[in-house]
Amino acid sequence: MTATSTKPLSELLAQTEFSDDDIVRLLGLTDPEECEALRQRAFDVTTEKTGNNVYLRGLIEVSNICTANCRYCGIRKDNHTVERYTLTEESIVACALHALHEGYGSIAIQAGERRDPKWIAWISRLLERIHKETVCEELPTGLGVTLSLGEQTYEVYKEWAEASGNPTGLRYLLRIESSNPRLFAELHSTPGKHEKILEHRYQALRDLRRAGYQVGTGVMIGLPGQTLEDLMRDIRTFGEMGADMIGMGPYITSNGADMTALGMMEKRPLMQLALNMISTTRLVMPDINIAAATALETLEPNGRVRGIRHGCNVIMPNITPQTTRASYQLYDNKAGTEVGPESNVLVERNIVEMTGRTLGLNLLGSSRRWAARTA
Ligand code: SF4
Repeated sequence: MTATSTKPLSELLAQTEFSDDDIVRLLGLTDPEECEALRQRAFDVTTEKTGNNVYLRGLIEVSNICTANCRYCGIRKDNHTVERYTLTEESIVACALHALHEGYGSIAIQAGERRDPKWIAWISRLLERIHKETVCEELPTGLGVTLSLGEQTYEVYKEWAEASGNPTGLRYLLRIESSNPRLFAELHSTPGKHEKILEHRYQALRDLRRAGYQVGTGVMIGLPGQTLEDLMRDIRTFGEMGADMIGMGPYITSNGADMTALGMMEKRPLMQLALNMISTTRLVMPDINIAAATALETLEPNGRVRGIRHGCNVIMPNITPQTTRASYQLYDNKAGTEVGPESNVLVERNIVEMTGRTLGLNLLGSSRRWAARTA
């Protein structure tokens, strides 16, 4: 157990380097005035290091078919109550063009994990087509693309990177979910074809970087059995792997998952812990992109507004066709399943402007950390 730091909070927040004790203390803040001081500092550091824009990633959930069985996940393979779908190439390209015309700048392509050759080749074709159809005057390299398609081999990552045709707007999100090996093993303990091993996840993240991606990772916050020290080590792990972006959110149970009986934290303290985690990560890694997860909105109306106020600078509105959104429930009551794609930009503009930020339209919005390390 780490002894938490006792220095004045104002002194701690003015630092640019943080000890493990400092991080644990910031994560555990509960006093409203102290939480507000942390939030304000994180917001100011975000402004100073990444600017005033909040960037858009139009999220397209292209398929909920998955070969894995992560115990926390509502669309895991063994949940037979989910209606499975894969969008057509045409409808995905239509979503991408919608995003382009609305000024999104980037899209995120998410699906369950598949590693069969047919799937790999289909994704490659899709990426080639999206690139070809979205190069334009505003975006000379086409839409930025973030892939979230699970653990693959280096060769597959490389193939998709080349197919995307856009080395400056290419990202991959692969969350580690927890850097605590015991917790990771508990989350992924269901035996199966694509068994999950933490070291494999780290290798995949190294492979992504080698293949030229801006690399994103993240964890779940408030997992059963997780401690503040675990979350502190998660932040240290983000730093050690040199993550360019972070996507993380509160752990919310799902009826279709295998660990629902373990319960979840109460909503209010869970929200505060998630916000403290965002702000503390921002202080420790000032120039990365941090996404305001949809799970924040599921936990509390305007959750993403709070996320932006606490240090997030990316939002990922769901632009998946309405008909399939309800089938992509990684956790219960996921927010955004009712909002039509046509209303997204107005909704998002309102959300962003409530925070004093501006919506970064027609911009790739790449991570400054990535730009600095590749300059
Ligand atoms: S978290 Fe991802 S890989 Fe795991 S079961 Fe869910 S969709 Fe599949």
